[in-house]
Amino acid sequence: MKNTLVIALFILALVSVCWGASEAEWKEVWIEAMDFDSVEREAEIPFGRVDVIADSFAIEVDYVSNFHNAIGQVLHYAYERKKKPGLALYIEGSKDKEKYLYVKVLAESLGIMVWLINDIVELTRTAESLPSDSIEYHGNVKSKIFHAPWCSNYNCKNCTAIFHSREEAEKTGYKPCKRCIKP
Ligand SMILES: [Zn+2]
Repeated sequence: MKNTLVIALFILALVSVCWGASEAEWKEVWIEAMDFDSVEREAEIPFGRVDVIADSFAIEVDYVSNFHNAIGQVLHYAYERKKKPGLALYIEGSKDKEKYLYVKVLAESLGIMVWLINDIVELTRTAESLPSDSIEYHGNVKSKIFHAPWCSNYNCKNCTAIFHSREEAEKTGYKPCKRCIKP
């Protein structure tokens, strides 16, 4: 009986550790992908701590399911730091998709900016799982920056140089875009 309890507690601890790790991971992936000019993490304020202060926003990064708390927190952060409130939300299960749409309307009616984390994280994961030579990169012949297919700049006016690998692009003197290619 005692053993079962110990094992159950151990599994519970393990599960919570794993969850924490994945949350920290998608949080970082999202921050990187957003390419803010300035980022401050875990900023202290009276009676609280702001997840991320980035450019003109004070941002709470959270699960959609935790939206009641998240909205309260971010309004506090914005007030204290004199920034615009922003919520970066993560959809965990299919049930939360509907909730996300609801929360987006609710938050925006309160003047809170809303970002969805899932799309960006999934794109980055897909990108990492593909062998880099299976992707065609487009290089901007003016800026000498090259982009991956999931970038909004991929088909830009001057993006006419075509490379079949990162190595090929870099050898030709092009630099990877910070938004779409991991350094
Ligand atoms: Zn790009």
